[in-house]
Amino acid sequence: MARYTEAKCRICRREGQKLFLKGDRCYTDKCAYERRPYAPGAAGRNMRRKMSDYAIQLREKQKVRRMYGILEGQFHRYFERADAMKGVTGTNLLVMLERRLDNVVYRLGFANSRTQARQLVRHGAFAVNGRRVDVPSFLVRAEDIIEVREKSRKIPVIAEAQDVIARRGCPDWLESDGAAFKGTVKAMPKREDIQFPINEQLIVELYSK
Ligand code: SF4
Repeated sequence: MARYTEAKCRICRREGQKLFLKGDRCYTDKCAYERRPYAPGAAGRNMRRKMSDYAIQLREKQKVRRMYGILEGQFHRYFERADAMKGVTGTNLLVMLERRLDNVVYRLGFANSRTQARQLVRHGAFAVNGRRVDVPSFLVRAEDIIEVREKSRKIPVIAEAQDVIARRGCPDWLESDGAAFKGTVKAMPKREDIQFPINEQLIVELYSK
């Protein structure tokens, strides 16, 4: 299975924004971006280049792709699906990314990061509506119930992640019941539920060239 091997904090520093890729550490003063908020490498601190429109669009796409931990080919396929749907393409794209099971597990506070959530999903730690689902890209729907399966409830990272959810908060479209190892999709996410600063129109413009 292809995956990123680049150090996560370098990705944040390259994108010029905290992408919260490392779980609890991201909320502490150990965050590398807090300490060195400039691009990695010898020239990073002095980078003052004016970026072209293309470069700005590319950076926005890379930021979102890396935040959700998705490889280029799959991200492009998400875009094509979003473009073929009714409604606003950029919003469709973000809503689809939010609905991924690995993201939902992370948002519900059963994992400290999307990377960790993806591993847990792949190992079969979760059930959706009572059925085991081990596909991180599975898209949840309104009223789905996501549960930590009985055999996985003692996994330490799941308990640790529950301690952190209070700091991160659970979005309005989800409801988390940590004590019952359960979460509910109250409604499909809306654009305003995705509060992270993203300009999805730049991604649309990039792929529409
Ligand atoms: Fe990014 Fe988290 Fe590393 Fe900070 S600690 S640079 S937010 S991955």
